[in-house]
Amino acid sequence: MRELPLPEIGPEDGLLQVEACGICGSDYEQFQGALPVRFPVIPGHEPVGRIVELGDEAARRWGVQVGDRVAVETLIPCGFCRNCVSGAYRLCNGHKRMNAYGYLSVDVPPGLWGGYSQYLYLEPHALVHRIDPGIKPEIAVLFNPLGAGFRWAVEMPRLAPGDSIVVLGPGQRGLASVIAAREAGAGCIVVTGLAADERKLALARELGADRTVNVEEEDPAQAVREATAGRMADVVVDVTAYATAAVNQAIDLARRGGTVVLAGTKGPKPIPDFLSDRIVVKELTLMGAFGVDYDNYERAIRLIESGKYPLERIHTHTLPLEEAERALRLLAREEPGEEAIHIALVP
Ligand SMILES: [Zn+2]
Ligand SMILES: [Zn+2]
Repeated sequence: MRELPLPEIGPEDGLLQVEACGICGSDYEQFQGALPVRFPVIPGHEPVGRIVELGDEAARRWGVQVGDRVAVETLIPCGFCRNCVSGAYRLCNGHKRMNAYGYLSVDVPPGLWGGYSQYLYLEPHALVHRIDPGIKPEIAVLFNPLGAGFRWAVEMPRLAPGDSIVVLGPGQRGLASVIAAREAGAGCIVVTGLAADERKLALARELGADRTVNVEEEDPAQAVREATAGRMADVVVDVTAYATAAVNQAIDLARRGGTVVLAGTKGPKPIPDFLSDRIVVKELTLMGAFGVDYDNYERAIRLIESGKYPLERIHTHTLPLEEAERALRLLAREEPGEEAIHIALVP
């Protein structure tokens, strides 16, 4: 734990009092040193909190006031590079570095760039979304995985009503994909996982999956063939972390002319036995998905506020800041007997 001074707030920026921060699989990769990060950093890029200080110009631009509760987007785009002005601000390269909460070093003033903290600096280019203060903070931070579900499982692959979708991996983003696909009117949702994922697979069915497959006991291709009357899946989304075999599986499970969205990062490791001809012959559309964007965060927040889904079933652990390390190890299944899905840190 470290103490940092609170910054002076000017006309264009603000200060957030963090109520909760969601924990992401990438936080564990950062913790292990697998991601290129300049230390020291305050981790945490899925924060929700109350605005406690705000400049006049920032209030006007963001349409918020002191006291409002907001969810803060991970990326802090420059606003001027080609990607920013063409709307793909997720791919901003104006800063020549990963300019994002949870990744900027404490050495970059004013240092409060992470959600594992009591306060977060709201930089002039930060993107904030108002969220109902009546929602429990640890549920409100689900805006991030749910936003990913809407973008990766629905918007990017253009999942249409009646389409079939296979979700590889029943973690928080897999379950969020099930909810998003359900909301989009998917015809058939299949979720795959391991024997150790039994509880998550049961939850996937509860949230709207039509069928789940334990790939250690059952052939997923056979299961998807049965579930889709032999057509195979219109869309396959891979949200498994580290599992390189899932990429080949995704290609196998998609129908001819189908779409595969790769959103789970692999460590980074190469894919053994990868045959690009499979993509050619099946005329697959292969997409990489990294992060969420404004509209999909909005969709996620409106869904949370609707109370339509039992989201508290996805949220399994709330831990204090002091237990950040344990929270990361829990998410990575390093604590025997504990099965975590979504974890929030609360200062
Ligand atoms: Zn994340
Ligand atoms: Zn930019």
